[in-house]
Formats: sequence, C-alpha cells, structure tokens
Amino acid sequence: VPVPSVPLTAPGGVVEIPVLGLGTWQARGAEAYDAVRAALDAGVRHVDTATMYANERDVGRALADSGVAREELFVTTKLPPDRAGQEAATLEASLRALGLDHVDLWLVHWPPQGRARPETWERFIEAQAAGRARAIGVSNYSAAQIDELVTATGVTPAIDQIPWSLPDYDPAVVDALRSRAVVLEGYSPFKRTRMSDATLRAVADAHGVTPQQVVLRWHVQHGFVVIPKSVTPARIAQNADVFGFALTDEEMAALDGLGQTRR
Ligand code: NDP
Repeated sequence: VPVPSVPLTAPGGVVEIPVLGLGTWQARGAEAYDAVRAALDAGVRHVDTATMYANERDVGRALADSGVAREELFVTTKLPPDRAGQEAATLEASLRALGLDHVDLWLVHWPPQGRARPETWERFIEAQAAGRARAIGVSNYSAAQIDELVTATGVTPAIDQIPWSLPDYDPAVVDALRSRAVVLEGYSPFKRTRMSDATLRAVADAHGVTPQQVVLRWHVQHGFVVIPKSVTPARIAQNADVFGFALTDEEMAALDGLGQTRR
C-alpha cells in the first residue's frame, strides 16, 4: 500500500509531503547509506536529514544510486542553530553534499536566539523564492515563536517538527498548530513510548502488528507526519507497512488517553 501525502502550504502552490519518512539521526556512513536504500526498497520516498547529522553525503549517494526519480523523492534537511547568519552558505553546502539542486523541505533545526529568529526566517523565505527549498518550516518551535515569524514576515512555516508520540499527545498542541495551518511532524516516535503498555499491546495484538506499527498508524490517522528512524532493514520495512490496517475510533481514543506528559 503506497504512502499517502498531506499538503504543505507554499507560495506558488502546494507541496505534497509523504506522511511517513525515514529518520536518519545517529546513522552515518555505510549505515546511513544502507538504511536509505532499504527504505526506498520498502517504498518510502521521504528522508529526514540535517546538517547536524553529518550524513547528507551518504543520504545523497543512496538516493542517487537507487535510481528513483527526483520528482518522487521528498528530502528534508535542517539549519543548525549555530549557523544563524550563514543560512544561504549552509544550504548550499547541504545541497552539494546531497547532490541535489533543491530540497523539498528546509527546517530551522532549533530556534536561534532573539533577533536572529526572524532574521533567519527571512533568509529561509529568500531560499524558497530562489527555488532552493520547495517548502520551509521550523523545528522545536512553540506556537508563540511561530507567531513571531508570521508577524515579522507574513510567511507561516509549513511545518513544525517536534518530539511527538503517545506520551506527548496534547490536543491543545494539535489545535495550536492546526489553527495556524502548520502541519505537525513528529520526531522520535518510539524513544519515549513504553512499548509494553497494556493498552498499546492490546491494540497491536488485535491487528496482528507490532506496538511500533500501532504508534505510526496513530500518527498518520491523526494527520501527523512521522519520521521513524531505523537502520535495520526488517524494521524499516515494518515501519513502512502501516497503511494496510486502520485503528477504530475507540482504539484511537484509548491511545490518546496515554498522553500524560503535558508540556
Ligand atoms: P525513534 O523514535 O525513531 O527511534 C529510533 C530507535 O527505534 C532506534 O533505536 C531503532 O533501532 C528503533 N526502532 C525503529 N523501528 C523499530 C521497530 N519497528 N521495532 C523496534 N525498534 C525499532 O528515534 P529518533 O530520535 O531517531 O527520531 C526519529 C527521527 O526524527 C530522527 O532520526 C531524526 O531524523 C528526527 N529527529 C529530529 C529532531 C529535531 O530536533 N528536529 C530530534 C530527534 C530526532 P535500529 O535503528 O537499531 O533499528
């Protein structure tokens, strides 16, 4: 079953982002290369990297060697906070490493300090206008920090990539982003989730899938974008295989109820 997409707002049209991508943090060298090749083999077309991950060259080689057409791929990279003021040069270095002439999504990895926040966002808007990033967004931003960018520039980030999974679930955060037309992209879907939780296990057993697959299915059924990381081919394939079953409304509500961490 192919991975569906959701629309991201971008000047001059809508950019479709596949709702499930491969995370690549802490994967480097051959490990990163092999993980990307395995994900592409499993039908994943969206890859999440960052300048900070020091694996853009490996990711780029895997994308090129796969032979998958550029238009089918969705590649995200991110500006590290210590590169505020060097935005354009940093993006050019990312593109060179990736072997691409544009990325599909460029994110501010963490909010820079003070006045650099709106200034960095201005540079992102310029990069998008120059065709170097089809969509632009942020990561680890609060709603107030998003509002600051909109007030300063009139341009809303297409996405906010935040730590997000069952224990983080908070409808107020969902509403805050949705009301601003910012897509919620969840990172670290597995790391803080207790896979032995009885509710999670019961749902997994009912569908004959793993707790990890239930977590990913919960994300996409909510309309979130999610980027599980794995360097293990069998897990990469398993994580991509969450579009052949659906959780019931009761199951979704029970899983929502596991959200206890209120930030
Ligand atoms: P995840 O929550 O994706 O968990 C990754 C871990 O789960 C790895 O140890 C992996 O093992 C294991 N795993 C993956 N799939 C399965 C499975 N089906 N069954 C059992 N274990 C599994 O962690 P990340 O923190 O890496 O988050 C995902 C991605 O989000 C990152 O890689 C990165 O791209 C992004 N991110 C962004 C941040 C930001 O500040 N914007 C911060 C953190 C992450 P193994 O690899 O050995 O198979």
